[in-house]
Amino acid sequence: MTMKAVVVKEVCDGSVEVIQKDIPKVGAGEALVKVEYCGVCHTDLHVANGDFGKLPGRILGHEGIGIVTEVAPDVTSLRKGDRVSIAWFFEGCGHCEYCTTGRETLCRSVKNAGYSVDGGMSEYCLVTADYAVKVPEGLDPAQASSITCAGVTTYKAIKEAGAAPGQWVAIYGAGGLGNLAVQYAKKVFNAHVVAIDINNDKLALAKEVGADLVINGREVDDVAALIQEKTGGCHSAVVTAVSKVAFNQAVDSVRAGGTVVAVGLPSEMMDLSIVKTVLDGIRVVGSLVGTRKDLEEAFQFGAEGLVVPVVQKRPVEDAPAVFEEMHAGTIQGRMVLDFTGETTCSCCHH
Ligand SMILES: [Zn+2]
Ligand SMILES: [Zn+2]
Repeated sequence: MTMKAVVVKEVCDGSVEVIQKDIPKVGAGEALVKVEYCGVCHTDLHVANGDFGKLPGRILGHEGIGIVTEVAPDVTSLRKGDRVSIAWFFEGCGHCEYCTTGRETLCRSVKNAGYSVDGGMSEYCLVTADYAVKVPEGLDPAQASSITCAGVTTYKAIKEAGAAPGQWVAIYGAGGLGNLAVQYAKKVFNAHVVAIDINNDKLALAKEVGADLVINGREVDDVAALIQEKTGGCHSAVVTAVSKVAFNQAVDSVRAGGTVVAVGLPSEMMDLSIVKTVLDGIRVVGSLVGTRKDLEEAFQFGAEGLVVPVVQKRPVEDAPAVFEEMHAGTIQGRMVLDFTGETTCSCCHH
């Protein structure tokens, strides 16, 4: 029995191909998932490009959602018919200091779907049963795929920011991640939200989903000064933008005692005034995806309709084109590969 799978090409140049592979066999502690949807993320492009080491033939995808069709005899945490996630945090060792203290995503022997193990961009995917998070009733599976990565990443970042009701949170970058960050900050944490971007369409969308104040960084001389003036300084800032400028502005836009949470990954250094950091008691922290518990919570708020990811479905056969579009930077919103066969090709409708 074979299945369609989206894999990294031999050349590792960022392009992918759809091939037929054998359906994997379930081993101890594992479950087989029939994938419904898998989102395409910038991280997949990095893996396909060999940025984290060359991995030709690796099945990509860490935003997978599907239905369990088979479990190993020793598995007690999942049952046939459960809808579950295939996430970047695929498995931790379970016994290190991070795994045993609620910080499992920092496990030094972590496994990542679509990178160190085969991921969710195939018709079937194996998961470590105890690490697959169940998707609650009432959450659309295509939307759930987006929460599996972008959603939980921003939800966790706002937790790390220590956001509380009535406080001001600045969200730098209003793209896929930023839009979800605005929703979690506003609807779940009851915070006041400032969204900062250089694209007015994205800012309009941020306003639509609840941002109290939007600022176009290209149209304002001093973003941080404007935020200080309008809010008295934000209590925290979450930086999803892939830009050093945004990180620097974030530090300057928080009030004394404020927290800056780094999420975006520009390959640059940020400036950090030691004097300001000390005298104003600024905290700067990094935040990476989320634990199984964080994902469970992030899903639940989606199921309750508080947070609604905007996704666009594409047939599996479109995967090479989607990766090209992502490479060219022409993608608006979140692309989700459809493995159910219900989405037809936009050009030829096959
Ligand atoms: Zn992702
Ligand atoms: Zn561990």
